[in-house]
Amino acid sequence: MLRVTFIGVGGWVTNPSFGHISILVEGGSSKVLLDFGEGSYWGYVRCVGREPWDVDYLILTHRHGDHILGVPTLAQMARARGRVVRIASIPDAVGAVKDLLRAVGARHCLENLDFTELSLGSEASLGGVRVKAIPAKHSVTASSIIMKISSYVVAYSGDTLPNPSFLSEARGADVLIHEVSAPRELAEEARAYGHTSEVDVEYVVSYVKPRYFIPIHYSEYLPRLPAVPGTELVAPSPCGRVVIK
Ligand SMILES: [Zn+2]
Repeated sequence: MLRVTFIGVGGWVTNPSFGHISILVEGGSSKVLLDFGEGSYWGYVRCVGREPWDVDYLILTHRHGDHILGVPTLAQMARARGRVVRIASIPDAVGAVKDLLRAVGARHCLENLDFTELSLGSEASLGGVRVKAIPAKHSVTASSIIMKISSYVVAYSGDTLPNPSFLSEARGADVLIHEVSAPRELAEEARAYGHTSEVDVEYVVSYVKPRYFIPIHYSEYLPRLPAVPGTELVAPSPCGRVVIK
């Protein structure tokens, strides 16, 4: 059984009720967090009902604030509780997190973070979870993630234009979590900033044909999405949860 819990579902410029990105994926005995935007620590506590110390790894896709700005609070709380948090990410984002902790006066909390660097294009084992970081097409160095957790394949786009190398690896995944950052009226602007719009996601879902499609990284608007035969659409909201067999 796979359980996906949404802590936050919004992009950086978003509706206040959406929160910033963080997703908890639980399969078998493994627990992985995907991204940790602003407010994610207390969002996690509110949504899950406990502090996140039993999470095996936090995977950060890239350095943008809506994906990493929750880390300083996570690090401070880890220090207060005598915990160490394992973070896996590409070198650019690891550097950004270290710079961020120094910038906000929390350099000493780096001792409470244990970093694993993910090489773009390579697979890694994070505990019992196999992870491949694929270069994303975004405005900064960024990764999309293919994750084998328990017997499930979860594909998470992070922030990106529709990307053939990610989509081919994601094809037939149990779960596709893909950003939909803009309504169709703003499709060109979305492309210019390395994001996927309602227009472009139609192709993405039709090509990947996942069992479940979960749109995420909402702007100020709820995405309007087409039905794709053979794929169930799950529309997430903060503290929402989906269980998949
Ligand atoms: Zn981004």
